[in-house]
Amino acid sequence: MHDTSFIMLDYDALSANIDFIKSHLRPGVKLSSVIKGNAYGHGIREMVPLLQKCGVDHFSVFSAVEAQAVHKITGADCTIMIMGHIHDHDIEWAIKNKIEFFVFDYERGAVAIDIAKKIKQTARIHVELETGFNRTGFNKKDLLKFIKLIKTNKEYLQISGVCTHYAGAESVANFVRVKKQINKYNKLCKLLSDNGLETGLRHTACSAAAMAYPKTQMDMVRIGILQYGFWPSKEILIDHLSKSKNADKQDPLKRVITWSSSVMSLKDVKTGDFIGYGTSFLAHHDMRVAIVPVGYAHGYGRALSNHGRVLVKGNRVGVVGMVNMNMMMIDITGIPEVERGTPVILIGEEDNVTISVASFGEMSNQLNYELLTRLPLDIPRLIK
Ligand SMILES: *Cc1c(COP(=O)(O)O)cnc(C)c1O
Repeated sequence: MHDTSFIMLDYDALSANIDFIKSHLRPGVKLSSVIKGNAYGHGIREMVPLLQKCGVDHFSVFSAVEAQAVHKITGADCTIMIMGHIHDHDIEWAIKNKIEFFVFDYERGAVAIDIAKKIKQTARIHVELETGFNRTGFNKKDLLKFIKLIKTNKEYLQISGVCTHYAGAESVANFVRVKKQINKYNKLCKLLSDNGLETGLRHTACSAAAMAYPKTQMDMVRIGILQYGFWPSKEILIDHLSKSKNADKQDPLKRVITWSSSVMSLKDVKTGDFIGYGTSFLAHHDMRVAIVPVGYAHGYGRALSNHGRVLVKGNRVGVVGMVNMNMMMIDITGIPEVERGTPVILIGEEDNVTISVASFGEMSNQLNYELLTRLPLDIPRLIK
């Protein structure tokens, strides 16, 4: 291995997480595995076969490019659903390959019908409803207009689902807004059925909603972060533990990813010296630091300067000074057995101590999503 760091994916952890998720779904609810952002940085190429092995046969992606990557692996064995972007010139490919996609405005719906007519096939769409997120989705007025279009083109459009997305189900602060969204969704959905249209699978829930608002599970859930062993927020974890019958109240999820590097060099630093660029870190005692060949170019963000924590020989140690483009320094004072080549765990577990993205200080859980999805494509991904 010549790379400065590598990622190990744990199949057993993934399988346990999928079992955990399924045990929280109401009977008959379908699981769609969300693998946008290169499977939250874990790697689409590696994760899709592992998820298939866990029984997953429905995948949600953001773009046509991601859909193509998944389709190459699964062929026609799985349903692939594009939640976000498709260029008009990829819609033909999608229809031909039975790739389903969200339609959230009249224009996309009209283009899909035109192309479906041209190739004499049916487009499988998910009608996305605007319920209060104010990103993508039909409001009532535009939905009525679109319904007219669907009614006159029924042989070219199949409604495979009707969906929406919540604006912050991971925080109780948004409780009222989420409740309003659920009501609005139900009303708009009724508009479709009142017009004699089949609604297909009704799906609204992400990880947080599926856990905190079970009635949002409807016919299908779109689960991302939980699969990988992370919680959407601390609140959702605490809410789960408080309702849990498990006596030990342990986090039931297991991290799938381990991201490791190793010590490149060591340095002793005297009291009163600054470490790294500028003056952000002053040694207040004699210190020993290890240099790790991972920096912001490798996805270890500068925001973790002086805040990040990594694992060395089972100890949580801190990043000292600024994270550089390709290197960072960590404080290994008092761990004498560290030498060149000693493993450094950036995310993961060692000797039953875990380091997660969210355990980097008091930083927001959004960091889990961000740091993971920024892990570069070219870091090797191996499977345990
Ligand atoms: C990302 C995403 C999800 C999954 O969110 P998690 O919080 O990771 O479970 C579900 N639905 C949509 C529309 C998304 O964009």
